[in-house]
Amino acid sequence: MRFLRCAIINYMTKIIDGKKIAEEIKEELKSEVLALAKKGIVPGLAVILVGEDSASQIYVKNKERVAKEVGINSQMVRMSAETSQEELEKIILQFNANEKIHVILVQLPLSEQIDAKRIINLIDPKKDVDCFHPENVGRLMIGDARFLPCTPAGILELLKRTEIEVEGKNVVIVGRSNIVGKPLAVMLINLGATVTVCNSKTKNLGEICAQADILVSATGRAGLICEDMVKKDAVVVDVGINRNDEGRLVGDVDYIHVCDKTSCITPVPGGVGPMTIMMLMRNTILAAKNTLV
Ligand code: NAP
Repeated sequence: MRFLRCAIINYMTKIIDGKKIAEEIKEELKSEVLALAKKGIVPGLAVILVGEDSASQIYVKNKERVAKEVGINSQMVRMSAETSQEELEKIILQFNANEKIHVILVQLPLSEQIDAKRIINLIDPKKDVDCFHPENVGRLMIGDARFLPCTPAGILELLKRTEIEVEGKNVVIVGRSNIVGKPLAVMLINLGATVTVCNSKTKNLGEICAQADILVSATGRAGLICEDMVKKDAVVVDVGINRNDEGRLVGDVDYIHVCDKTSCITPVPGGVGPMTIMMLMRNTILAAKNTLV
């Protein structure tokens, strides 16, 4: 873990190094893959990308690279933006039936002509690595999840490995998406945190955020979280990925001004992002292990 001495006040803030923690997990996962190989199993991951969205293409390429490093068999299917519902459904049914594929990830967003809900519901719940299928959403809610969805799981793993306790903490999450905000809220509630979830209609957002022991922002709005919205010594987790005017990757948090007020903060890039990919690998291995029982 690196330390940053913030400029004006002489205060030590811990920067939670997601890249380093993800690398540590990668080494652990490589050992698990070797152990599975002795039982004749190679974890298999299918990623389906529809269209040419540039950010999605980068994400898929990174997943392919990390899967290879870990020893996971990854099959990437790149389909044109004009792909029909029937063509996509056919591919999903093929992967559902393929015993060598243990999890399926459909990269979102999908093209307009595709009914995303139908696609999500078609994926075999045992292979639904993002935990989007209604069956898995229900299981997550009652604390009986097959998988923990990748980004929220990555956030909890970062907190755990930084020895930040969540039980009894006042956690504020800004953002209520099905992929980050909502599942994270459920997971934190199950762990005994007191959770407030905010959205674009929330009144007095700053006041609510300033109550948080742990503040998580997942909005995609650069600079939304400013200094006044952060309690002194809070933990701040920045999930947002945005491009600023100079084309640089930044999060939701006004990092320079907020960091010296926090006890711990995740940077962008190098915070939550690398953990999301590593949790995808972890879930793939878990799904492969589940076929043994
Ligand atoms: P999303 O589906 O667009 O949801 C954004 C959420 O933020 C919505 O709930 C929205 O409220 C809320 N919001 C927007 N502006 C707000 C404001 N001014 N005040 C309060 N709430 C506001 O986005 P997402 O898929 O959850 O992703 C969020 C961000 O995280 C994006 O930047 C994305 O790229 C990033 N992300 C990163 C990772 C990673 O691995 N690092 C993974 C997933 C996502 P409403 O519901 O009221 O509209």
